[in-house]
Amino acid sequence: MRAPELKPGDFQPRRRTESREGRRSGRFPNAMIVMKFGGSSLAGPQAVNRAAETIGGRAAQQPVVLVSALGKTTDRLLAIARAAAAGDAGRTQRLFDAWRRRTARVAEATCPQRRRSAVRDMLDAHCAELSDALAQIAAAGALDGKATDRAAAFGERLSSLIVTEALANHGLAGVHVDARSVVVTDERQGEVLPLFDETRARLTNRVRPLVAQGKIPVLGGFIAANRAGETTTLGRGGSDYSAALVGAGLDAQEIQIWTDVDGVMTADPSLIPAARSLKVMSFGEASELAYFGGRVLHPATMLPAMEHDIPIRVLNSRRPQAEGTLIVKQAEAAATVVKSIAYKENITLIDIRSTRMLMAHGFLAEIFSVFEKYGMAVDMVSTSEVSVSLTVDKARRLPQILRELGRFAHVEASGGQAIVCVVGEGIRYTPGIAAKVFAALEGIRIRMISLGASRLNIGFVIGEGDIEAAVQKLHATFFDGGGPDTE
Ligand code: ASP
Ligand code: MG
Repeated sequence: MRAPELKPGDFQPRRRTESREGRRSGRFPNAMIVMKFGGSSLAGPQAVNRAAETIGGRAAQQPVVLVSALGKTTDRLLAIARAAAAGDAGRTQRLFDAWRRRTARVAEATCPQRRRSAVRDMLDAHCAELSDALAQIAAAGALDGKATDRAAAFGERLSSLIVTEALANHGLAGVHVDARSVVVTDERQGEVLPLFDETRARLTNRVRPLVAQGKIPVLGGFIAANRAGETTTLGRGGSDYSAALVGAGLDAQEIQIWTDVDGVMTADPSLIPAARSLKVMSFGEASELAYFGGRVLHPATMLPAMEHDIPIRVLNSRRPQAEGTLIVKQAEAAATVVKSIAYKENITLIDIRSTRMLMAHGFLAEIFSVFEKYGMAVDMVSTSEVSVSLTVDKARRLPQILRELGRFAHVEASGGQAIVCVVGEGIRYTPGIAAKVFAALEGIRIRMISLGASRLNIGFVIGEGDIEAAVQKLHATFFDGGGPDTE
């Protein structure tokens, strides 16, 4: 059984807020903001209500809302799908029931009283559809990309319906829009590429008019559909990317990412209690941070924002009055030069030495064609005349890659490594930063070093066991005299 099609009227509150926003939108058709709430900002009834209040507080700015699945839901759905594929019916049922109970508890506690039974029916219909999908997975005895996307999508499909109801409960004109009818991707599964022009056209036709009517559209992040209408997803953490695509497609004024920390920090606050939040950073800095382990934003988020020059603001949903971090095209270098220190675990370092005496031309091309063949992204590279070192962050297909490289080179792979990355616009024209970095790291074994062409960052590879010491020493070196925004 499929969930019933949602008609635009289904999730509107009966009591309409007055039409001030509607009139405003006539005068300022482009003055929208995108507000994206992450899973931890929707982890229970209290958090969902807080998100609804925060949205209400910004109703005059014509928000378009994107939501992640309720905290940890995607992990749970994937575990359920894996249990089904493994043929473990008991575990599948147990996990499914727990997920359903939790979703029902949040949905029923946050919807308008009069909508309770409709919300229960809506949840039942989705559960029936997920059950069907799980039965198919169990029958196949395997989990392919399509089935994975289909199962994972229930998180955002439901959270977007739940938040729409919560808005109604706060007297706000929320209206649910199935993101799969708006965000279009190519035909692959798992990590797809969005088709921007098509997505923009659909946003213009379906979402913009709702905003013009004074409504608050609510879409699930992460989920999309290909041209054939099959459910796809933008990859783990992809709701940020959805928010940026929607913001760019609607020419929004600002893309707000509501999360559970005070914006982008000088370092991971769980490692460095003294970490501070940054007021402003550039798209370039934010991209480097996201790629190299900054936990706040999905790396692809900056691309649409950068291309359409729309600022991103990272905000704390627990402290909505705090100003958060603004990410813009140009941000001045901080007095501290370095703005943030990020790290990424689970890195494999691969050292490749040519079996010929010196590196013949074509050696690099040969190496990279192997990575290309297996679709494996390389994060960091450093070369000398006879050797190449590089890092990858996925173990999948590594054995085949190593075997192929072994045909023409000596290859050595070490797992359990980490990339630590020091980021800041000022690095490119401030002499002596590298020396300061390496002085701070004295005594820690560095396996590889890279100063990227953007020269916004200095990255290096160390063993995972050294992360804490390295980040602490670097943070003390660069920030003990004050934060990047304190001159
Ligand atoms: N819910 C998805 C995930 O956990 C997407 C997201 O939250 O950004 O990966
Ligand atoms: Mg996220």
